[in-house]
Amino acid sequence: MVALIRQAVTWLERWHGEAQQRSPLPGPVPLPPVAPAPRGLDAASLMEDLDPLVRGSYNPWHPGAMAHLDPPPNSASVVGELVCAWLNNNMLAEELSPLLSQLERRLLGWIAHRLGMGEGAGGVMASGGTLCTITALVTARHQRGLDGQQACLYASADCHSSLAKALRVMGLPAAALRLVPTDASGRLDPHRLDEALAQETEPILAVVATAGTTIRGAVDPIGPMADICHRRGLWLHVDGAIGAVCGLSQRHQGRVAHLGCADSLTMNPQKWLGIAKASAMVLLRQPQALADTFAAPLAYMEPARGVHGGDCGLQGTRPAEVLKLWLGLRHLGQQGIDELLDGALQRAQTLRHDLAPLPLVMPSGDLHIVCFRPGTAGSSEAWSRRTREQLLDQGLMLSRPLYRGQRYLKAVLGNPATGVEQIATVVGTVSASLAR
Ligand SMILES: *Cc1c(COP(=O)(O)O)cnc(C)c1O
Repeated sequence: MVALIRQAVTWLERWHGEAQQRSPLPGPVPLPPVAPAPRGLDAASLMEDLDPLVRGSYNPWHPGAMAHLDPPPNSASVVGELVCAWLNNNMLAEELSPLLSQLERRLLGWIAHRLGMGEGAGGVMASGGTLCTITALVTARHQRGLDGQQACLYASADCHSSLAKALRVMGLPAAALRLVPTDASGRLDPHRLDEALAQETEPILAVVATAGTTIRGAVDPIGPMADICHRRGLWLHVDGAIGAVCGLSQRHQGRVAHLGCADSLTMNPQKWLGIAKASAMVLLRQPQALADTFAAPLAYMEPARGVHGGDCGLQGTRPAEVLKLWLGLRHLGQQGIDELLDGALQRAQTLRHDLAPLPLVMPSGDLHIVCFRPGTAGSSEAWSRRTREQLLDQGLMLSRPLYRGQRYLKAVLGNPATGVEQIATVVGTVSASLAR
Protein backbone atom coordinates (compact mmCIF):
# COMPACT_ATOMS: atom_id res chain seq x y z
CA MET A 1 0.00 0.00 0.00
CA VAL A 2 2.74 2.43 0.91
CA ALA A 3 4.47 1.83 -2.44
CA LEU A 4 1.20 2.56 -4.25
CA ILE A 5 0.67 5.75 -2.25
CA ARG A 6 4.21 6.83 -3.05
CA GLN A 7 3.58 6.34 -6.77
CA ALA A 8 0.31 8.22 -6.49
CA VAL A 9 2.08 11.13 -4.81
CA THR A 10 4.63 11.30 -7.65
CA TRP A 11 1.79 11.23 -10.15
CA LEU A 12 -0.03 13.97 -8.22
CA GLU A 13 3.11 16.09 -8.09
CA ARG A 14 3.22 16.23 -11.86
CA TRP A 15 -0.43 17.22 -12.18
CA HIS A 16 -0.19 19.70 -9.36
CA GLY A 17 2.74 21.41 -11.07
CA GLU A 18 0.63 21.87 -14.20
CA ALA A 19 -2.61 22.91 -12.50
CA GLN A 20 -2.02 26.63 -12.98
CA GLN A 21 -1.69 26.15 -16.72
CA ARG A 22 -4.96 24.25 -17.10
CA SER A 23 -8.27 26.14 -17.28
CA PRO A 24 -10.51 26.07 -14.20
CA LEU A 25 -13.23 24.53 -16.38
CA PRO A 26 -11.92 21.90 -18.83
CA GLY A 27 -13.40 21.07 -22.20
CA PRO A 28 -15.03 17.66 -22.70
CA VAL A 29 -12.76 14.67 -21.96
CA PRO A 30 -13.81 11.07 -22.69
CA LEU A 31 -14.24 8.87 -19.65
CA PRO A 32 -11.70 6.12 -18.99
CA PRO A 33 -13.09 2.53 -18.99
CA VAL A 34 -15.73 2.23 -16.31
CA ALA A 35 -16.07 -1.51 -15.60
CA PRO A 36 -13.38 -3.47 -13.74
CA ALA A 37 -10.83 -5.09 -16.09
CA PRO A 38 -10.83 -8.93 -16.15
CA ARG A 39 -7.59 -8.83 -14.20
CA GLY A 40 -6.72 -6.15 -11.64
CA LEU A 41 -4.49 -3.33 -12.86
CA ASP A 42 -1.01 -2.49 -11.64
CA ALA A 43 -0.10 0.92 -10.26
CA ALA A 44 1.11 2.37 -13.56
CA SER A 45 -2.17 1.44 -15.31
CA LEU A 46 -4.19 2.89 -12.45
CA MET A 47 -2.39 6.21 -12.87
CA GLU A 48 -3.11 6.05 -16.60
CA ASP A 49 -6.79 5.57 -15.74
CA LEU A 50 -6.64 8.61 -13.49
CA ASP A 51 -5.09 10.95 -16.06
CA PRO A 52 -8.26 11.69 -18.06
CA LEU A 53 -10.19 12.15 -14.83
CA VAL A 54 -7.86 14.93 -13.81
CA ARG A 55 -7.94 16.49 -17.28
CA GLY A 56 -11.74 16.47 -17.25
CA SER A 57 -12.22 17.79 -13.72
CA TYR A 58 -13.01 21.22 -12.39
CA ASN A 59 -9.63 22.65 -11.41
CA PRO A 60 -9.80 24.61 -8.14
CA TRP A 61 -6.04 25.23 -8.16
CA HIS A 62 -6.19 27.75 -11.00
CA PRO A 63 -6.01 31.41 -9.82
CA GLY A 64 -8.99 32.15 -12.06
CA ALA A 65 -11.22 29.61 -10.27
CA MET A 66 -13.64 32.03 -8.62
CA ALA A 67 -17.07 30.88 -9.71
CA HIS A 68 -18.27 29.15 -6.59
CA LEU A 69 -17.59 28.43 -2.95
CA ASP A 70 -15.11 25.68 -3.81
CA PRO A 71 -11.57 26.87 -3.16
CA PRO A 72 -8.43 24.76 -3.52
CA PRO A 73 -8.23 22.41 -0.54
CA ASN A 74 -6.10 23.12 2.51
CA SER A 75 -3.06 20.87 2.16
CA ALA A 76 -3.12 19.39 5.65
CA SER A 77 -6.79 18.50 5.15
CA VAL A 78 -5.82 16.47 2.06
CA VAL A 79 -3.31 14.56 4.16
CA GLY A 80 -6.00 14.17 6.82
CA GLU A 81 -8.30 12.66 4.19
CA LEU A 82 -5.66 10.10 3.26
CA VAL A 83 -5.02 9.16 6.88
CA CYS A 84 -8.77 8.99 7.48
CA ALA A 85 -9.20 6.55 4.60
CA TRP A 86 -6.25 4.49 5.77
CA LEU A 87 -7.60 4.26 9.33
CA ASN A 88 -11.07 3.47 7.96
CA ASN A 89 -12.66 4.09 11.34
CA ASN A 90 -16.42 4.37 11.58
CA MET A 91 -18.09 7.23 13.41
CA LEU A 92 -21.22 5.09 13.77
CA ALA A 93 -20.06 3.66 17.07
CA GLU A 94 -17.38 4.37 19.65
CA GLU A 95 -15.71 0.97 19.48
CA LEU A 96 -15.02 1.56 15.78
CA SER A 97 -13.66 5.09 16.31
CA PRO A 98 -12.66 5.37 19.97
CA LEU A 99 -10.43 8.43 19.85
CA LEU A 100 -11.88 9.98 16.71
CA SER A 101 -15.37 10.08 18.27
CA GLN A 102 -13.88 11.94 21.21
CA LEU A 103 -12.00 14.24 18.83
CA GLU A 104 -15.23 15.12 17.04
CA ARG A 105 -17.09 15.90 20.28
CA ARG A 106 -14.21 17.94 21.65
CA LEU A 107 -13.40 19.91 18.52
CA LEU A 108 -17.05 20.70 17.76
CA GLY A 109 -17.54 21.62 21.42
CA TRP A 110 -14.57 23.99 21.13
CA ILE A 111 -15.92 25.54 17.91
CA ALA A 112 -19.42 25.98 19.36
CA HIS A 113 -17.94 27.62 22.44
CA ARG A 114 -15.77 29.82 20.26
CA LEU A 115 -18.84 30.96 18.31
CA GLY A 116 -20.45 31.95 21.60
CA MET A 117 -23.01 29.14 21.90
CA GLY A 118 -22.09 28.59 25.55
CA GLU A 119 -20.73 25.82 27.76
CA GLY A 120 -22.07 22.42 26.87
CA ALA A 121 -22.78 23.33 23.25
CA GLY A 122 -21.56 20.94 20.57
CA GLY A 123 -22.70 18.89 17.64
CA VAL A 124 -21.95 16.41 14.95
CA MET A 125 -20.44 16.44 11.47
CA ALA A 126 -22.41 15.39 8.40
CA SER A 127 -21.55 15.21 4.73
CA GLY A 128 -22.50 18.72 3.62
CA GLY A 129 -24.48 21.69 4.79
CA THR A 130 -27.77 20.45 3.40
CA LEU A 131 -27.63 17.34 5.55
CA CYS A 132 -26.64 19.45 8.57
CA THR A 133 -29.60 21.78 8.12
CA ILE A 134 -32.00 18.86 7.68
CA THR A 135 -30.56 17.34 10.87
CA ALA A 136 -31.07 20.63 12.73
CA LEU A 137 -34.63 21.17 11.54
CA VAL A 138 -35.75 17.60 12.23
CA THR A 139 -34.29 18.08 15.73
CA ALA A 140 -36.06 21.42 16.17
CA ARG A 141 -39.37 19.88 15.18
CA HIS A 142 -38.92 16.96 17.58
CA GLN A 143 -37.86 19.22 20.46
CA ARG A 144 -40.89 21.41 19.91
CA GLY A 145 -43.23 18.41 19.95
CA LEU A 146 -44.34 18.97 16.37
CA ASP A 147 -43.52 15.54 14.86
CA GLY A 148 -46.17 14.41 12.42
CA GLN A 149 -47.97 17.76 12.46
CA GLN A 150 -48.43 20.56 10.01
CA ALA A 151 -45.81 23.19 10.81
CA CYS A 152 -44.03 26.04 9.04
CA LEU A 153 -40.58 27.54 8.72
CA TYR A 154 -39.57 31.20 8.39
CA ALA A 155 -36.54 32.36 6.41
CA SER A 156 -35.43 35.21 4.17
CA ALA A 157 -36.43 35.44 0.52
CA ASP A 158 -32.74 34.81 -0.28
CA CYS A 159 -32.43 31.62 1.78
CA HIS A 160 -30.75 28.51 0.43
CA SER A 161 -32.59 25.78 -1.48
CA SER A 162 -31.63 23.24 1.21
CA LEU A 163 -34.55 24.54 3.29
CA ALA A 164 -36.99 23.41 0.58
CA LYS A 165 -35.30 20.00 0.63
CA ALA A 166 -35.62 19.83 4.41
CA LEU A 167 -39.37 20.38 4.14
CA ARG A 168 -39.60 17.58 1.56
CA VAL A 169 -37.78 15.20 3.87
CA MET A 170 -40.05 16.20 6.74
CA GLY A 171 -43.16 15.57 4.67
CA LEU A 172 -44.21 19.22 4.74
CA PRO A 173 -45.56 21.10 1.73
CA ALA A 174 -43.41 23.63 -0.12
CA ALA A 175 -45.76 26.38 1.08
CA ALA A 176 -44.64 25.67 4.65
CA LEU A 177 -41.56 27.75 3.82
CA ARG A 178 -42.62 31.33 4.61
CA LEU A 179 -40.31 33.78 2.87
CA VAL A 180 -39.74 37.11 4.58
CA PRO A 181 -38.66 40.03 2.35
CA THR A 182 -35.16 41.40 2.70
CA ASP A 183 -34.11 45.02 2.93
CA ALA A 184 -31.99 46.76 0.27
CA SER A 185 -28.84 45.14 1.65
CA GLY A 186 -30.23 41.63 1.15
CA ARG A 187 -30.77 41.01 4.87
CA LEU A 188 -34.01 39.68 6.26
CA ASP A 189 -36.16 42.52 7.57
CA PRO A 190 -36.83 41.70 11.26
CA HIS A 191 -39.92 43.96 11.45
CA ARG A 192 -41.53 42.11 8.58
CA LEU A 193 -40.60 38.84 10.31
CA ASP A 194 -42.20 39.90 13.57
CA GLU A 195 -45.37 41.05 11.78
CA ALA A 196 -45.63 37.80 9.86
CA LEU A 197 -45.07 35.69 12.98
CA ALA A 198 -47.83 37.59 14.79
CA GLN A 199 -50.29 36.64 12.03
CA GLU A 200 -49.21 33.00 11.74
CA THR A 201 -51.89 30.43 12.44
CA GLU A 202 -49.82 27.25 12.07
CA PRO A 203 -47.22 25.98 14.56
CA ILE A 204 -43.76 27.33 13.78
CA LEU A 205 -41.01 24.78 13.65
CA ALA A 206 -38.13 27.24 13.40
CA VAL A 207 -36.94 30.61 12.18
CA VAL A 208 -33.83 30.47 9.96
CA ALA A 209 -31.27 33.27 9.77
CA THR A 210 -28.84 33.01 6.87
CA ALA A 211 -25.29 34.08 7.75
CA GLY A 212 -24.06 34.61 4.22
CA THR A 213 -26.52 34.21 1.37
CA THR A 214 -25.25 32.18 -1.55
CA ILE A 215 -25.62 34.82 -4.26
CA ARG A 216 -24.54 38.05 -2.56
CA GLY A 217 -23.15 37.03 0.84
CA ALA A 218 -25.63 39.01 2.93
CA VAL A 219 -25.82 38.23 6.66
CA ASP A 220 -29.27 38.40 8.25
CA PRO A 221 -29.59 40.44 11.49
CA ILE A 222 -29.07 37.49 13.85
CA GLY A 223 -29.30 39.53 17.09
CA PRO A 224 -32.72 41.10 16.38
CA MET A 225 -33.98 37.76 15.02
CA ALA A 226 -32.78 36.00 18.17
CA ASP A 227 -34.65 38.58 20.30
CA ILE A 228 -37.84 37.93 18.36
CA CYS A 229 -37.42 34.17 18.70
CA HIS A 230 -36.68 34.48 22.41
CA ARG A 231 -39.75 36.64 23.00
CA ARG A 232 -41.98 34.26 21.04
CA GLY A 233 -40.41 31.05 22.31
CA LEU A 234 -39.22 29.97 18.86
CA TRP A 235 -36.24 27.91 17.70
CA LEU A 236 -33.58 29.90 15.82
CA HIS A 237 -31.47 28.03 13.29
CA VAL A 238 -28.57 29.88 11.67
CA ASP A 239 -27.57 28.71 8.20
CA GLY A 240 -23.94 29.75 8.46
CA ALA A 241 -22.74 27.41 5.70
CA ILE A 242 -20.73 30.29 4.25
CA GLY A 243 -20.30 32.94 6.94
CA ALA A 244 -20.17 31.14 10.29
CA VAL A 245 -16.40 30.64 9.94
CA CYS A 246 -16.03 34.39 10.54
CA GLY A 247 -16.99 33.59 14.14
CA LEU A 248 -13.63 31.84 14.52
CA SER A 249 -11.76 35.09 13.99
CA GLN A 250 -11.79 37.94 16.48
CA ARG A 251 -11.12 40.31 13.62
CA HIS A 252 -14.15 39.20 11.62
CA GLN A 253 -16.70 37.90 14.13
CA GLY A 254 -18.50 41.25 13.95
CA ARG A 255 -19.70 40.30 10.46
CA VAL A 256 -21.76 37.50 11.98
CA ALA A 257 -22.57 39.18 15.30
CA HIS A 258 -24.72 37.19 17.78
CA LEU A 259 -24.09 33.92 15.99
CA GLY A 260 -23.96 32.29 19.42
CA CYS A 261 -27.65 33.06 20.01
CA ALA A 262 -28.61 30.24 17.65
CA ASP A 263 -30.32 27.14 19.01
CA SER A 264 -28.75 25.30 16.09
CA LEU A 265 -26.25 26.30 13.44
CA THR A 266 -24.86 24.94 10.18
CA MET A 267 -21.22 25.65 9.31
CA ASN A 268 -19.25 24.46 6.26
CA PRO A 269 -15.47 24.54 6.69
CA GLN A 270 -15.37 23.01 3.17
CA LYS A 271 -16.29 26.40 1.73
CA TRP A 272 -14.34 29.44 2.86
CA LEU A 273 -11.77 27.58 5.00
CA GLY A 274 -11.00 25.20 2.15
CA ILE A 275 -11.09 22.01 4.21
CA ALA A 276 -11.32 19.11 1.72
CA LYS A 277 -14.91 18.01 1.05
CA ALA A 278 -17.00 17.05 2.77
CA SER A 279 -16.56 19.17 5.86
CA ALA A 280 -19.73 20.46 7.47
CA MET A 281 -21.24 20.41 10.92
CA VAL A 282 -24.40 21.09 12.82
CA LEU A 283 -23.91 22.70 16.23
CA LEU A 284 -26.52 22.93 18.96
CA ARG A 285 -26.74 24.87 22.17
CA GLN A 286 -27.97 21.58 23.68
CA PRO A 287 -26.38 18.79 21.67
CA GLN A 288 -28.14 16.02 23.58
CA ALA A 289 -31.21 17.03 21.57
CA LEU A 290 -29.62 15.18 18.63
CA ALA A 291 -29.68 11.82 20.39
CA ASP A 292 -33.16 12.58 21.82
CA THR A 293 -34.28 12.94 18.20
CA PHE A 294 -32.31 10.30 16.32
CA ALA A 295 -31.20 7.54 18.71
CA ALA A 296 -32.28 4.06 17.68
CA PRO A 297 -30.89 0.99 19.45
CA LEU A 298 -27.52 -0.21 18.09
CA ALA A 299 -27.99 -3.74 19.44
CA TYR A 300 -24.79 -5.00 17.85
CA MET A 301 -22.46 -2.44 19.45
CA GLU A 302 -20.81 -2.04 22.84
CA PRO A 303 -22.26 0.88 24.77
CA ALA A 304 -20.63 4.28 24.17
CA ARG A 305 -18.89 6.38 26.80
CA GLY A 306 -20.82 9.34 25.52
CA VAL A 307 -23.36 8.95 22.75
CA HIS A 308 -22.73 6.92 19.61
CA GLY A 309 -22.12 9.05 16.53
CA GLY A 310 -24.77 7.00 14.75
CA ASP A 311 -27.34 8.19 17.28
CA CYS A 312 -26.70 11.87 16.57
CA GLY A 313 -28.00 12.29 13.06
CA LEU A 314 -29.22 10.76 9.84
CA GLN A 315 -26.05 9.00 8.75
CA GLY A 316 -25.12 5.59 10.10
CA THR A 317 -21.67 4.57 8.93
CA ARG A 318 -19.73 7.78 8.54
CA PRO A 319 -16.09 8.60 7.83
CA ALA A 320 -14.08 10.51 10.43
CA GLU A 321 -14.34 13.80 8.56
CA VAL A 322 -13.28 15.50 11.77
CA LEU A 323 -9.71 14.31 11.22
CA LYS A 324 -9.03 16.53 8.22
CA LEU A 325 -10.82 19.47 9.83
CA TRP A 326 -8.74 19.14 12.97
CA LEU A 327 -5.49 18.74 11.03
CA GLY A 328 -6.40 21.61 8.68
CA LEU A 329 -7.17 23.98 11.57
CA ARG A 330 -3.99 22.94 13.39
CA HIS A 331 -2.07 23.63 10.20
CA LEU A 332 -3.65 27.07 9.70
CA GLY A 333 -3.45 28.16 13.31
CA GLN A 334 -5.39 31.19 14.50
CA GLN A 335 -3.18 33.44 12.42
CA GLY A 336 -3.77 31.36 9.29
CA ILE A 337 -7.53 31.47 9.80
CA ASP A 338 -7.46 35.25 10.22
CA GLU A 339 -5.28 35.70 7.15
CA LEU A 340 -7.39 33.41 5.00
CA LEU A 341 -10.52 35.44 5.82
CA ASP A 342 -8.64 38.75 5.50
CA GLY A 343 -7.23 37.87 2.09
CA ALA A 344 -10.62 36.92 0.66
CA LEU A 345 -12.35 40.01 2.06
CA GLN A 346 -9.61 42.26 0.72
CA ARG A 347 -9.80 40.72 -2.75
CA ALA A 348 -13.57 41.18 -2.71
CA GLN A 349 -13.15 44.80 -1.64
CA THR A 350 -10.64 45.41 -4.44
CA LEU A 351 -12.97 43.92 -7.05
CA ARG A 352 -15.94 45.95 -5.76
CA HIS A 353 -13.85 49.10 -5.71
CA ASP A 354 -12.53 48.58 -9.24
CA LEU A 355 -15.97 47.71 -10.65
CA ALA A 356 -17.65 50.65 -8.90
CA PRO A 357 -17.04 53.26 -11.67
CA LEU A 358 -18.73 51.00 -14.27
CA PRO A 359 -22.46 51.30 -15.02
CA LEU A 360 -23.37 48.14 -13.10
CA VAL A 361 -25.97 47.03 -10.60
CA MET A 362 -23.89 45.53 -7.79
CA PRO A 363 -25.91 44.22 -4.82
CA SER A 364 -24.10 44.81 -1.53
CA GLY A 365 -22.86 41.93 0.60
CA ASP A 366 -21.08 41.31 3.88
CA LEU A 367 -18.60 38.62 2.86
CA HIS A 368 -16.21 37.66 0.05
CA ILE A 369 -18.79 37.39 -2.75
CA VAL A 370 -19.30 40.03 -5.46
CA CYS A 371 -22.12 39.90 -8.00
CA PHE A 372 -23.08 42.40 -10.68
CA ARG A 373 -24.97 42.97 -13.94
CA PRO A 374 -25.31 45.88 -16.39
CA GLY A 375 -27.37 48.76 -15.05
CA THR A 376 -29.25 49.17 -18.31
CA ALA A 377 -32.86 48.05 -18.64
CA GLY A 378 -33.57 44.73 -20.32
CA SER A 379 -32.40 41.18 -19.88
CA SER A 380 -28.85 40.39 -18.81
CA GLU A 381 -29.16 36.82 -20.10
CA ALA A 382 -27.16 37.33 -23.32
CA TRP A 383 -24.64 39.67 -21.67
CA SER A 384 -23.91 37.24 -18.83
CA ARG A 385 -23.53 34.28 -21.18
CA ARG A 386 -21.21 36.16 -23.54
CA THR A 387 -19.10 37.72 -20.80
CA ARG A 388 -18.72 34.45 -18.93
CA GLU A 389 -17.39 32.88 -22.14
CA GLN A 390 -14.96 35.75 -22.69
CA LEU A 391 -13.70 35.40 -19.13
CA LEU A 392 -13.36 31.64 -19.49
CA ASP A 393 -11.25 32.15 -22.62
CA GLN A 394 -8.82 33.99 -20.35
CA GLY A 395 -8.86 31.28 -17.69
CA LEU A 396 -11.27 33.11 -15.39
CA MET A 397 -14.32 31.22 -14.21
CA LEU A 398 -17.23 33.21 -12.77
CA SER A 399 -20.75 31.89 -12.21
CA ARG A 400 -23.99 33.21 -13.62
CA PRO A 401 -26.67 33.06 -10.89
CA LEU A 402 -30.27 34.03 -11.46
CA TYR A 403 -31.25 36.58 -8.81
CA ARG A 404 -34.67 38.23 -8.70
CA GLY A 405 -35.34 37.50 -12.35
CA GLN A 406 -32.01 38.72 -13.72
CA ARG A 407 -28.74 36.98 -14.55
CA TYR A 408 -25.70 38.23 -12.68
CA LEU A 409 -22.04 37.40 -12.87
CA LYS A 410 -20.69 36.31 -9.54
CA ALA A 411 -17.13 36.05 -8.23
CA VAL A 412 -16.22 34.33 -4.98
CA LEU A 413 -12.84 35.58 -3.81
CA GLY A 414 -12.03 32.66 -1.53
CA ASN A 415 -9.24 31.28 -3.70
CA PRO A 416 -5.93 32.35 -2.13
CA ALA A 417 -4.22 32.02 -5.54
CA THR A 418 -6.41 34.75 -7.08
CA GLY A 419 -4.35 37.92 -7.34
CA VAL A 420 -4.50 41.51 -8.58
CA GLU A 421 -3.80 40.29 -12.12
CA GLN A 422 -6.94 38.14 -12.26
CA ILE A 423 -9.03 40.88 -10.67
CA ALA A 424 -7.76 43.42 -13.20
CA THR A 425 -8.62 41.07 -16.08
CA VAL A 426 -12.15 40.60 -14.74
CA VAL A 427 -12.60 44.36 -14.49
CA GLY A 428 -11.13 44.96 -17.97
CA THR A 429 -13.29 42.28 -19.59
CA VAL A 430 -16.47 43.45 -17.87
CA SER A 431 -15.72 47.05 -18.80
CA ALA A 432 -15.23 46.07 -22.47
CA SER A 433 -18.45 44.02 -22.40
CA LEU A 434 -20.41 47.15 -21.45
CA ALA A 435 -18.80 49.38 -24.07
CA ARG A 436 -20.13 47.61 -27.15
C1 LIG B 1 -23.67 25.78 0.29
C2 LIG B 1 -24.80 26.23 1.13
C3 LIG B 1 -25.63 25.29 1.77
C4 LIG B 1 -25.58 23.82 1.49
O1 LIG B 1 -24.39 23.22 1.75
P1 LIG B 1 -23.95 21.89 0.97
O2 LIG B 1 -22.69 21.54 1.65
O3 LIG B 1 -23.80 22.27 -0.47
O4 LIG B 1 -25.02 20.87 1.16
C5 LIG B 1 -26.59 25.78 2.64
N1 LIG B 1 -26.76 27.10 2.84
C6 LIG B 1 -25.99 28.02 2.22
C7 LIG B 1 -26.22 29.47 2.52
C8 LIG B 1 -25.00 27.62 1.33
O5 LIG B 1 -24.28 28.54 0.67
